[in-house]
Amino acid sequence: MKVITAIKDMHAEILKQKGLGKTIGFVPTMGFLHEGHLTLLKQARKENDIVVLSIFVNPLQFGPNEDFSTYPRDFERDLALAEAEKVDYVFYPSVEEMYPHKPSVKAVVQERTDVLCGESRPGHFDGVATVLTKLFNIMTPTRAYFGKKDAQQVAVIHGLIADFNFPIELIAVDIVREADGLAKSSRNVNLLPVERQQAAVLYRSLQKAKTAIDLGERNPESLINMIKEMISSESTGQIDYVETLSYPQLKPLEKLESTIIIALAVNFSKVRLIDNFIIQID
Ligand code: AMP
Repeated sequence: MKVITAIKDMHAEILKQKGLGKTIGFVPTMGFLHEGHLTLLKQARKENDIVVLSIFVNPLQFGPNEDFSTYPRDFERDLALAEAEKVDYVFYPSVEEMYPHKPSVKAVVQERTDVLCGESRPGHFDGVATVLTKLFNIMTPTRAYFGKKDAQQVAVIHGLIADFNFPIELIAVDIVREADGLAKSSRNVNLLPVERQQAAVLYRSLQKAKTAIDLGERNPESLINMIKEMISSESTGQIDYVETLSYPQLKPLEKLESTIIIALAVNFSKVRLIDNFIIQID
């Protein structure tokens, strides 16, 4: 496994591998790896000749009052985990390497950003689309792997790949959870112990909503209220949003039909957690 910090070196390695006819599987992350990331790496390993992991906490996608400075980092541990997954290259650039000057051009996401995290994190998806445009150009991957935990991100990246004609196959991977159902996240370590216990209610509330749908509930408001009440009564978290939308279009729904997402975000004292499920309704 090679660790590369310079863009030109990374690009040269990729060109070499592509010259040999190798397929490239790319897994972009912000590091502090957990089983969610490892699942993406495992799938990339199965489906490609070469696996590239990037670790970059992208300042462009954090708002001024968000957790860029407290975002957990442990590069040595990440390297050991990457090695165990038989990653070929770890791309670990500095902020200066990725943004040597204030970007003169950036990507602006114009659809699907007026809802969910786009609404409460203005500019977040522009930052994601900008860094991915750079990373896609550096890696020219055959396939890129993303988790459905960030379902809005997956929808936005579909748009980025289609609209900018990146010849990349997007692979969306199921959410990996802790034993109590909490979606794995690098941010979970910044929950207070009592909040960590409470946080499982996010998943339980989504499960309850799923059961209600299975039993015939089709009213978005009833489901949203059920989820909100459950989270408020069983945790100290402050609800940022609970929404039901069409997926992947992310349009509001009057009635639950065809493919929908139920997504939520909850602020705890130092961490904002997200979770969702996507369901096909007949
Ligand atoms: P991050 O490092 O948080 O930017 O995540 C990097 C990638 O891992 C993104 O595509 C995430 O959606 C994905 N990911 C993060 N957590 C999970 C999880 N619990 N299950 C599946 N994928 C995940």
